[in-house]
Amino acid sequence: MKSFITYPINSDFSIHNIPFGVAVFNKEYIACCTRIGDMVIDLATLYDYGFFDEIEGLNENVFEAYTLNEFIELGKPVTTAVRLKIQELLDEHSSLAEDEKTIQECFYNVDQVKMMMPVHIPNYTDFYSSIEHATNVGKMFRDPANALLPNWRHLPVGYHGRASSIVISGTAIHRPNGQMKPADQPKPIFGATKQLDFELEMAFIINKNTEMGESISTADAEDAIFGMVLFNDWSARDIQSWEYVPLGPFLGKNFGSSVSPWVVTLEALEPFRTATPVQEPEVLDYLKFTGDKNFDINLEVYLQPENGAENLICKSNFKLMYWNMAQQLAHHTINGCNIEVGDMYASGTISGEEPGSFGSMLELTWRGEKPLQLNNGEERKFIQDHDTVIMRGYAEKGDIRIGFGEVSGTIIPSK
Ligand code: MN
Repeated sequence: MKSFITYPINSDFSIHNIPFGVAVFNKEYIACCTRIGDMVIDLATLYDYGFFDEIEGLNENVFEAYTLNEFIELGKPVTTAVRLKIQELLDEHSSLAEDEKTIQECFYNVDQVKMMMPVHIPNYTDFYSSIEHATNVGKMFRDPANALLPNWRHLPVGYHGRASSIVISGTAIHRPNGQMKPADQPKPIFGATKQLDFELEMAFIINKNTEMGESISTADAEDAIFGMVLFNDWSARDIQSWEYVPLGPFLGKNFGSSVSPWVVTLEALEPFRTATPVQEPEVLDYLKFTGDKNFDINLEVYLQPENGAENLICKSNFKLMYWNMAQQLAHHTINGCNIEVGDMYASGTISGEEPGSFGSMLELTWRGEKPLQLNNGEERKFIQDHDTVIMRGYAEKGDIRIGFGEVSGTIIPSK
């Protein structure tokens, strides 16, 4: 497949991708959009021009909206048909290539648009599904010989996070204040966190509402997943380690999470399916699944100090997840918990086995014991004010490459 729009061979936004997002065009008009190479395409105007007329179930201009929720709620038959139609329109043999009026009206260079949050997120859940991450944290904070807690291999551990503070890439994050209890002091203290961290994660977005009491099986789970984004789950380790007993994460987490603007569909990720790591001991029946349910997605984290260059500090891969998305969703709903369109479910920190593949500063510096050396001569134990953290993700196979672009966020001083 080739497009009449040209783009570099390493573009994240090849004709194989066709992601969805929401953009402000020329500072004046908001609509749902897609992207190829460096061109962002206004889907609302494309709809008005009749390009989607033949798609069954797409009976109103759901692209004329500030979020993708209405579109993705139409479900896979419609969203998949729209994606394939866009792919056909962008093909090198498409008549659109000669249609100057439509190109003039609907195609914008990426620097003429500002990306917005792609979805309204009613609910956000964060899992803890990387065995390397859970093992590293267990070694650091508990027992190195028994790093994993007894439940970990039996269920995808998770907690309900805060949806209101999930923001789009590029949004600055204030260093959170809070209560901490330094090990060498008798009482807790109040102040700005000294252990600000990122967590390298991916998140999936739900395309349907269910009724309370209803469950989603591992076999049906992927039909309920519209697509994925990169997710940085900012964390204040000193606040977290004092507050988390016994109910889990709270203010050490809910001050902010950052997401990438382009939602990459599961259909685009299809060529990159791979097996889930062997699960031992065998899981309960409701967590059993068939087929390849993991996805081979290369992930990178860069730390950029103020006025400095980017430092590559972590290379990991989404395929390493011990629990797959189908299992996470089956587990989440097995008790009858209802889900909603736009819900976001994050993977948990994605760490590999090698030290250079750990997905947080906590692990990369081993709680600050081994600071990272930056290329400007500075070191980092945790994230400093005016540091920017950038995460990128892409999948490659043969001559097919698709990517997520990036999620970036800069830390600014506390208010
Ligand atoms: Mn997390």
